Order: sequence, then structure tokens, then C-alpha cells
Amino acid sequence: MTIAENIREIRGRIAAAETRAGRAPGEVTLICVTKTRTVEEMMEAVRAGALDLGENRVQEMTEKYANMQDMAVVTEKKYNIKWHLIGQLQRNKVKYIIGKTTLIHSVDSFRLAEEIERRAEEAGVDVDVLIQVNPAGEAQKAGVSLPEAEALVSEIESGLTRVQVTGLMSVVPIAGDPEEVRGYFREVKQAFDKIAISRPAFRHLSMGMTHDYEVAIEEGATMVRVGTGIFRNGGQ
Ligand SMILES: *Cc1c(COP(=O)(O)O)cnc(C)c1O
Repeated sequence: MTIAENIREIRGRIAAAETRAGRAPGEVTLICVTKTRTVEEMMEAVRAGALDLGENRVQEMTEKYANMQDMAVVTEKKYNIKWHLIGQLQRNKVKYIIGKTTLIHSVDSFRLAEEIERRAEEAGVDVDVLIQVNPAGEAQKAGVSLPEAEALVSEIESGLTRVQVTGLMSVVPIAGDPEEVRGYFREVKQAFDKIAISRPAFRHLSMGMTHDYEVAIEEGATMVRVGTGIFRNGGQ
């Protein structure tokens, strides 16, 4: 299967999951996770209509950002690519991505949000972020616990002006059967709904990867982050 065929198949599965969940068609955004992929592979995905790209490392993202801008501008019509930072963000790297990302999915401390605020203020831009949660409490994973999430949202709301929290992002444990993690998705959605009350800007729920995105959509994801599923056998 080519990258374009994989994307078409995944879009079909997303649509079916939306229907099963009683969601509006097209409500879920497919984020094409491009970490470790070449810009040529990425352009193939872009040409197939995957304009939301997810990267997990700052340096990799900024290098590809520059290359892709050149490619898209010089060799093709300009695509309106949106960049999502989905991996851990160190405070000393914030300055490199301000003004380039559509959404930072991985804010998990007030100190990090404060650094984003500082750099956003310097650049004169506003920055949308998600709070990363760690529903299973896995020691090796970033993210705040579900009970801590609302307090962090409130702290950012009351202390910062350039940083806007627009939702939650979650990574759940790897499971052989995605049914095993349905309960985590459900807990994240419950926490999301509670925080979203009286916060109209709070609207994104980023959860689900190649293994489990259909279950995540059934449980309320509005963004899924799919890498392997798009690029496997790509280009052959
Ligand atoms: C790599 C990655 C993904 C995509 O994982 P696949 O299993 O390849 O779909 C999603 N989210 C994050 C945070 C990642 O690092």
C-alpha cells in the first residue's frame, strides 16, 4: 500500500468510528505523525491531503519545517501545513518553535507554560496548547494526573494571557488489544468534559494512535495521532 492508500483507508476507518460514536462526519482531525520520516515521505502524505503533521522532537521539527516550506513553495503549490508538537518540550527549546506550531500538545507544568508565555510575548503571538495527561500514572511517561489537570488549566488561565489551553492530550499504555485501554480513554474524556464546562475554548481531545485510534474516537477523541499506520509499506 502506498502512503496515499494508507491515508485513504485510515480516513475511512475514522469516518466509520465517528458514525459508531454518533459523531458528526469530519469532526475528528487526523494528525499524521512524521517523526523519523523523510521530507519526501511527508510531502507524499501532504499531497494526499494530510496537512496536520505531528513531530515529537523540536530539532527534527524545525529542520523539516524549513525544508518543507522550501519544497512546498518552490516545487509545488503552497500547502497550508499545520505543525503539531506532540513530544516532550524542554523549556530551553521553546524559543525555536514559537510561531511555527499550530498546537503544542505536551504542556504538563506551569513553568513550561510560563516560558511559552514569555517567548510568545516577545514574538507578539498567541499560542494554543493542550495539557498532557498520564491517566495510567506510568512513571516513564510525561503528563499530569487527571485530578491535577484542571488545576493546571486554571493556573494558566489566571496567570497567563498569550497561552490559551484548548484541551487535553493523552498517551495511554501500549496494549495488545485496544479494548484494554478503552477505560483510560473514557476517564480522560470525563475529565475533559468536566474542565470544558464554562470554557468554550476548551475543545480538543488528542488521544489515540495507530493501535487504538478507533477506540479513542468512540470514546470522544477529536484528534488522533497516527504514524506507523500511515507510513508502513509506504512508497512500495
Ligand atoms: C509516535 C507517536 C505517535 C504515533 O504513534 P504510532 O503508533 O506510530 O501511530 C502518537 N503520539 C505520540 C506522542 C508519539 O510520540
